[in-house]
Amino acid sequence: MPISGATRLAGVIGYPVRHSLSPALHNAAYAACGLEWVYVAMEVAPGEVRGALDGMRALGIAGLSVTTPHKDAAFVAVDEASEAARAMRAVNCVQLGRAGRLIGHNTDGAGFVDSLRLDAMLDPSGLRVAVIGAGGAARSVVEALGRAKAGEVVVVNRTPSRAHDAAALAGGRGRVGTMADIESVDLVVNATSIGMGSDDSPIDAALLHAGQVVADLVYHPLDTALLRSAVAVGARTVDGLGMLVHQAAHQFRLWTDHEAPLIAMRRAAEAELGRRATS
Ligand code: NAP
Repeated sequence: MPISGATRLAGVIGYPVRHSLSPALHNAAYAACGLEWVYVAMEVAPGEVRGALDGMRALGIAGLSVTTPHKDAAFVAVDEASEAARAMRAVNCVQLGRAGRLIGHNTDGAGFVDSLRLDAMLDPSGLRVAVIGAGGAARSVVEALGRAKAGEVVVVNRTPSRAHDAAALAGGRGRVGTMADIESVDLVVNATSIGMGSDDSPIDAALLHAGQVVADLVYHPLDTALLRSAVAVGARTVDGLGMLVHQAAHQFRLWTDHEAPLIAMRRAAEAELGRRATS
């Protein structure tokens, strides 16, 4: 797409942000839809989030993704927030609304549930789920699984106090558990950072069995040690790229009002990961 005086601007703010896959995903989506938009990564130092969002309003930037460590500060700085963002008290997407109003969303959890429904044909409603981890990603998954009416959401985390806070996000469906709970659930989700850039697994393979679905939020590498051990016992798997693509697809729809080209976005993310693996 040529860049002209009419080009719309979107981007991601984070610190650091240079390694974000979001520019590859969003720019591929604009190209696939023939939209004259461009998406760039902008490093914003801690303490500068409110200034960045004021700048968004002043410059007419149509949308900003928000990544670590700015999601909590962005929640405080927006003018209004979606139900998911209010539940999480964290914003990963800002939309420039009418009269310069900044609307905060949190698309991470919905992205995860979409990856189950659309990529794995799995409806979480009524399922027993174990979520391993209680950080930002785990919290968004727990909250979305609660809203999707999972039967039970068991949170297992190294630091118990964080597990309690996360489990509360699923309302009456959430509770704190232990690794022993993994054997009796339908869906297991790794939401820890274990496996990111390493060949470690957070879960003893002996706890997994056929009939389960095992999802890993880690997407670098895509074929994690956890997912390999799940395949070995005959369980179905869901990789972390699905959540990344679908949360970005929600943002794309909010900003452009177009349907998201999911296949083009997934291919762009895979190509970018492949390029990084070989460079
Ligand atoms: P975070 O807020 O830093 O949370 C990290 C979690 O991992 C915490 O629960 C932490 O436990 C646990 N953990 C870390 N090291 C551990 C260890 N050695 N043993 C046991 N537990 C350990 O990170 P996050 O933002 O939630 O991200 C978690 C993972 O999800 C990362 O790999 C991230 O890249 C991935 N992610 C993927 C997507 C996607 O779209 N696929 C989106 C967001 C994040 P404590 O509470 O005890 O410290």
